[in-house]
Amino acid sequence: MNNKKTALITGSSRGIGRAIAILFARNNYNVVINYNKSEEKAKELYDELTNEGLDVRIFKADVSKPEEANALVNYTIGQFENIDVLVNNAGISKPCMFTDMTYEQWNETMSVNLNSVFYVTKKALQYMLPNCSGKIINISSMWGLVGAAIEVDYSASKAAIIGLTKALAKELGPSNINVNAIAPGVINTDMVKGLGEETMSMLKEETPLMKIGQPEDIARCALFLAGEGGDFITGQVISSNGGFVI
Ligand code: NAP
Repeated sequence: MNNKKTALITGSSRGIGRAIAILFARNNYNVVINYNKSEEKAKELYDELTNEGLDVRIFKADVSKPEEANALVNYTIGQFENIDVLVNNAGISKPCMFTDMTYEQWNETMSVNLNSVFYVTKKALQYMLPNCSGKIINISSMWGLVGAAIEVDYSASKAAIIGLTKALAKELGPSNINVNAIAPGVINTDMVKGLGEETMSMLKEETPLMKIGQPEDIARCALFLAGEGGDFITGQVISSNGGFVI
């Protein structure tokens, strides 16, 4: 056991979560990488970071299921005895017209994007509350702030994360636990790959900083919130979006 802080990052086999895992591991955190379907990618990441001599673990859990979310938190405690930082990052997006949306898709989006935040956070608080210490960072989206056509389920789940973040920050503030949200703009990951080149260049042109964000942009934001810089910040939504939403 070491005396480093421990960060649990849900959905960290790919994309933004992966970048957060790398940055935290390289900045002196014990890191638990969580994956669901991308076992190979999670293992590659684990190998890469352990080869650098960093303290990381991997654990498979579908965080949309309460029992698996609980197992993930228990595993983290078993490995590192504590959770100092929880990043609720796991998420899915399946663009489709609202009128075509099935009940199954609606429920799946809510389960993965929103219910997972409830499950993992509730369990992690069993360990954070007695310590009167912790940083919870929820990955929302700028679409949770302004809404996106053909992503009504996604926008609703991300808006709900913002409501959850603000309310929970009020509840946990007296226990010295900070709860914040990051609402990324368009970030270059598998999630936006399906949008096609034309849409991507249109989105880029609509962004005042004239570029698409990188997963590392969000990782740096999370590292800041987790560190001393975030000590007096709670209940806030930082929208790292290149100015797309101002
Ligand atoms: P991504 O590249 O598609 O990666 C999604 C990650 O979530 C993967 O590691 C995936 O793991 C994991 N995941 C999905 N369902 C899961 C489940 N049930 N249990 C555990 N892990 C699960 O997406 P991303 O762009 O990095 O998105 C990360 C977060 O940022 C999401 O919450 C997303 O909504 C948000 N976001 C993204 C953008 C963007 O433009 N990319 C913008 C705003 C917000 P497996 O592959 O192992 O299943």
